Parts: sequence; C-alpha cells; structure tokens
Amino acid sequence: MKYNRCGRSGLLLPEISLGLWHNFGSVDNFDNAESIAKEAFDKGITHFDLANNYGPVPGSAEENFGKILWHNFQGNLRDEIVISTKAGYTMWDGPYGDWGSRKYLLSSLDQSLKRMSIDYVDIFYSHRPDPETPIEETMMALDHAVRSGKALYVGISNYSAEQTRVAVDVLKQLGTPCLIHQAKYSMLERWVENGLLDVLEEKGVGCIAFSPLAQGLLTDKYLNGIPENSRAHNPNGHLKEDEVTQERIQKLIQLNEIAQNRNQSLAQMALAWLQKDKRITSVLIGASSVKQLCNNIDCLENTEFSHDELNAIEKILA
Ligand code: NDP
Repeated sequence: MKYNRCGRSGLLLPEISLGLWHNFGSVDNFDNAESIAKEAFDKGITHFDLANNYGPVPGSAEENFGKILWHNFQGNLRDEIVISTKAGYTMWDGPYGDWGSRKYLLSSLDQSLKRMSIDYVDIFYSHRPDPETPIEETMMALDHAVRSGKALYVGISNYSAEQTRVAVDVLKQLGTPCLIHQAKYSMLERWVENGLLDVLEEKGVGCIAFSPLAQGLLTDKYLNGIPENSRAHNPNGHLKEDEVTQERIQKLIQLNEIAQNRNQSLAQMALAWLQKDKRITSVLIGASSVKQLCNNIDCLENTEFSHDELNAIEKILA
C-alpha cells in the first residue's frame, strides 16, 4: 500500500480506504464483516470510514466496528488506524437529529464515540451542506469537535465547489483547517471535475472519492443482468434495479474490453482510473467479501494509462 499526503496536512492516507456503508450493519453477517476489516488492515488499509447512520439499522455499523476494534485492534493498534465518522443525514426523530446544526452534530458525535467505544475519531465530517443552517454554525461545531478532543481533524462531504470554498475559509478563520472533502467520484459520476477538484487543490484540501465503482456497476457483476448476490438485488442496498439500464450495460461491456486488454478486471481499471489524478488522496471502496476486497486492492499493480486507453475510455463515457 502507498500512502498519500492529505492536501497540505500532516496526515497520510492509504491509496485505498474501506467504507462501512453497506455490509457492516446489524442485518449483515458479522463474521464476514470482521474478516473484511481484518484483511483490509493486513493489506495496509489503515483508514476506515463510517457515518452515524450506516447500517441498517442506523448506528449498527458503528456498533459492529466498535466490536471489531475491540476484538482485533486493541492497544497500540488504535494509533495505526484512521477512523472517520459523519453527521448530516437523518439519524433520529424530532428536530435535532438531521442536517447541520451545532446541536445535532455535537450530540451525534458523542453518540458515535459511545457506539464505537472510542475516545476520539480521527476525522469528523459534516455529511452534507444544510441550506437552512448558517455555514458558520456548522463549521463552528466541527471546530469545537477538534478543540474538545473528540476529533483530530474535520472534513466536509457533498458540498459544491462554491460551498466548499466558503466552508474551508470559515474553518481556516476558526483555526481548524479543513482536512478533506469526501465526494462521489467514478467513471460514471464526474461532477467533481467541474470545479471542486480545482478548489481543493488551491486550498490544500485532500479528496477522498466515494462509490468509486458506482456501487458495483463498474465491475463485471452486471454485464449479464442483475445477479441475486448483488447490491441492486438486495432490498437494503442503495443501488436500485432501475439504475442498471441497458445503455449503462452497453458502456460497461465496452469498458470491460479495455480492462481485459490491460489484464485487469473492470473494477481494477475503474479504481486505477481515479488514482491517475494526483488530487485524489484516497479511493474509498466498499466490499461485500474478502475476495472482492483483495481483487480491488490489486488494482494498484497497474495504475498507468496510455493516451490511447484514456481516449478510448472517454469515447465510451461520452
Ligand atoms: P463502491 O462503489 O466501491 O461499491 C462497493 C460495492 O460494489 C460492494 O459492496 C459490492 O457490492 C460491489 N463490488 C465491490 N468490488 C467488487 C468486485 N471486485 N466485483 C464485483 N462487485 C464488487 O463503494 P460504495 O458505494 O460501497 O461506497 C464506499 C464508501 O463510500 C461507503 O462505504 C462510505 O464509506 C462512503 N460513502 C459516502 C457517502 C457520502 O455521502 N459521504 C455516500 C456513499 C458512500 P455487492 O457485492 O453487494 O453487489
């Protein structure tokens, strides 16, 4: 594993990080989840990404990760891993369990620490911008999380380029730099290329790309339809069957041919393709098995692309 500097900070993150959005909830197989997390760490993945609402049920991914930590990462190993969590989407009933108020963010962080049985997280995120709450209030809550010792760094997620510019400036004034932006980025979702990555580079903020496989679409899984053991088939999965369109499958089939010519799986090529941009600090994958995890990590064996390959990929994606 290689470790990249996160923006202009002191923190290094692995080129590939593991997210616990799916496959780590109370509805999932705990032994499988534990095996994935252990294998990830053994392969050099030092960064595990969570959020208050990951599950289902919401909160259960943090609870399970707490158990995994307790079983496997006791003592000094806590110092070898970077744990992130977030608040911003709906977590509990009533007016205080959603969006971006100081009230929600700070009480949610306390709950997350309790669920994971840890004293601090390494990165605490505002999970999404809140159109109703002043951005200053949300950023002051992040700053407070660091000053109270409950988070070492802070980040933002799903903020537009313009919102990012404001958030980063407010955090700087408060004295807590914005470490990282967590943004959806894959061959099939490229909004970050229209301004966000430029802002992050200018401001010295890192970028971690989530859903880099478009929730599994950018693998060989859907080339012949929707298999039973897939996120699109799973009622708890966030990939909907109607997102697996014929038009997309045609593109995936063509991309798969390029991947095969590179001696890679489609998943490996999709991950390598993101890593060619040096502004991407880490690629944040999900995995439902140890086999998938290992297959994906092997993308690091070939991250170079020829001009011809890049052009051919652009033509397919256009
Ligand atoms: P991916 O795009 O990497 O999708 C992961 C899924 O794709 C797996 O669970 C598996 O699904 C399938 N898959 C992975 N590898 C392979 C393979 N080699 N062959 C076949 N299928 C494969 O990422 P996620 O969408 O899971 O997101 C990753 C992380 O990003 C999340 O866990 C979370 O931490 C973060 N995130 C952040 C968000 C935010 O708003 N900040 C929003 C969403 C995610 P299956 O086998 O079940 O079909």
